[in-house]
Amino acid sequence: MAFTKPTQLLRKIHPALARERYTNKIAVLSPGLAISYSDNNGARVGYPTQAQKTLLLNGAAQARAIMRAAVLEMDRVVILRRPEGQTFTNIMNYHFGLAANRANPTLKSNVVDKPFSAKALLQKDRRWVLNQVRMGMLSISFHINTGVYLIDIDNAVRPGAGANDEGYVNGPADLTGLFSAFKNGEIHAAFADMQAGGYTADAVARVIIHEAAHKYWGVEDQHYAHDTAAYRQHDCDESLDNADSFAWAALSLFHGNLIHGTNSLDLHPQVVAVP
Ligand SMILES: [Zn+2]
Repeated sequence: MAFTKPTQLLRKIHPALARERYTNKIAVLSPGLAISYSDNNGARVGYPTQAQKTLLLNGAAQARAIMRAAVLEMDRVVILRRPEGQTFTNIMNYHFGLAANRANPTLKSNVVDKPFSAKALLQKDRRWVLNQVRMGMLSISFHINTGVYLIDIDNAVRPGAGANDEGYVNGPADLTGLFSAFKNGEIHAAFADMQAGGYTADAVARVIIHEAAHKYWGVEDQHYAHDTAAYRQHDCDESLDNADSFAWAALSLFHGNLIHGTNSLDLHPQVVAVP
């Protein structure tokens, strides 16, 4: 019986995946990072450059460290039930739509550090939201700490690639659970553009975490963090289904400061003045 590779099956399901035949090389840059790119069947020499590889390595390592720190912080509050602390509260209020001025029609209680009660276990309250955040962070962290695989977008060279894509994941990106990692396609990132654009390790890590939230946690894009007016309208349900919310909350938890992006490249995160 002939064996059909999963990627070929995926192409049948999603016509957009047909262009996935573009890359022809795979390189393992470290135990935690493999990349795929095109050397144009040997004609393209010296690509990716050492500077691009170094940036990808630093970005992947930073993404792993950020996610481990984010999970520890979520565990501290959700599992160990320690007090949130003002910084943690600000980060969750801003990035996960829990600020007092957000409309949250489905939330029964938004009390910080609410004491344990058996009744509250069945309630959709602040602790329920924080646990949803924790589960998402845990899944993203588990997967990218197991190993990151990045496929080059190669904007300048690849036929049909969007000129400004820094990263994306193919597929419907709405599948959660057991099959999300398999069905949602691989993480694509613009190796050359990120390096040429001055991306820091933090910025590359944000791209990886954002795309990993699509791939491994099946969330959508409601609004990007740099789209601040709309982003600040998110309720908790929209935030829980938004890749940038996980990415920026994780970066904020790692840095111990409420930060967000301010433009489409998000290279210089700013401290948020309005939680
Ligand atoms: Zn996205």
